[in-house]
Amino acid sequence: MGSSPRTLQAIVGAPGVRGKKVAALSKDGLTAFIQSIVSTKQEMKEPFYVLDLGVVMALFDKWARNLPMAQPFYAVKCNPNPALLGALATLGSGFDCASKAEIESVLSLGVSPGRIIFANPCKAESHIKYAATVGVNLTTFDSKEELEKIKKWHPKCALLIRVKAPDDGGARCPLGPKYGALPEEVTPLLQAAQTARLTVTGVSFHIGSGAMQFRAYREAIAAAKTVFETAARLGMPKMHVLNIGGGFTAGPQFAEAASTVKAALQAYFPNEPSLTVIAEPGRFFAESAFTLATNIIGKRVRGDLREYWINDGIYGSMNCILYDHAVVTCMPLARASSPRCKGARTYDSTVFGPTCDALDTVLKVYPLPELQVNDWLVFPNMGAYTAAAGSNFNGFNTSAILTYLAYSNPN
Ligand code: PLP
Repeated sequence: MGSSPRTLQAIVGAPGVRGKKVAALSKDGLTAFIQSIVSTKQEMKEPFYVLDLGVVMALFDKWARNLPMAQPFYAVKCNPNPALLGALATLGSGFDCASKAEIESVLSLGVSPGRIIFANPCKAESHIKYAATVGVNLTTFDSKEELEKIKKWHPKCALLIRVKAPDDGGARCPLGPKYGALPEEVTPLLQAAQTARLTVTGVSFHIGSGAMQFRAYREAIAAAKTVFETAARLGMPKMHVLNIGGGFTAGPQFAEAASTVKAALQAYFPNEPSLTVIAEPGRFFAESAFTLATNIIGKRVRGDLREYWINDGIYGSMNCILYDHAVVTCMPLARASSPRCKGARTYDSTVFGPTCDALDTVLKVYPLPELQVNDWLVFPNMGAYTAAAGSNFNGFNTSAILTYLAYSNPN
């Protein structure tokens, strides 16, 4: 589906997105929108997200233009926000789910089970049983023990053998240390699947999240080709699914990642019309679509140093600093509109989160103008691996953070 006004209408009416107010952004954009939320709800000082549906639509188009041969299965773990899931479902995405709860949330949007891959190589038996009940019939494995569980609870499920990518692509979060069959494990695993009469339809890999070196896709696609050949040598039915995982970012580097993937597919899988290529992008769709607004709830002045406390932090949305090795940035909401901030002197500032742990420090030596309690700090690009892994530590409830929907022109 393209990014027409009709698509937007469909997204706004879709399950998960339905009922939420969607404001078209004016030329002053997000800042003015956030300002309007803050000033119409004066009493509301809780942190909130803004999800820009226009960004999601533009990214979906960008994916389709650059990687038309790879059907995206959005990785729900990255950000399970129902409005994002609903928008992606409307645009035609499939979904990578890692647990029963993720499958439930995608099915609750009316997505058919055929658009879901249960892409967790090590699943609890009860979750496998659930997948069988609801008809999610595609999953990954990388051990004999997983095959035994699948044989017992979901023998009709089609399988992708997850292989360890030869290179982690300089990823921020490498996944190789945890998942993926080693080259010498591939033959015994395929033989075990054969003996158990399970159907292995293809190969999956993940070069690591936040990858920087895209030759890792080429090396992983080459390794996948070897697995296809091994399966053929073992007399297994012809493999026909290649899952190239995630690891994509939406910035200018996406074009390079996409052309590396395309060239590698051409080199290792030429003239294979029966090949289905899928991908599991998470960060690509979620990161830049969400902006977080936080309120300054405390301040301390120590000489030239300014220290601020905000009402979200390391135990909430900013857990990405610890788990995702993210570097966050922020700017005062007032900066764009208020003469108080324009061209004002800046101070080295520390920004703390709200909990009583000193680890809960979001920014250090960060240049900010003089700010006051009740001012707002806005954090862009806060959609990937943020709220998804936030806790309720000290009574600061990450899951209660509201999301407002906006729409910028995607073109
Ligand atoms: N697929 C699997 C199996 C993953 O484990 C992950 C992230 O951990 C993803 C997809 C999403 O990766 P990314 O956000 O880098 O696209």
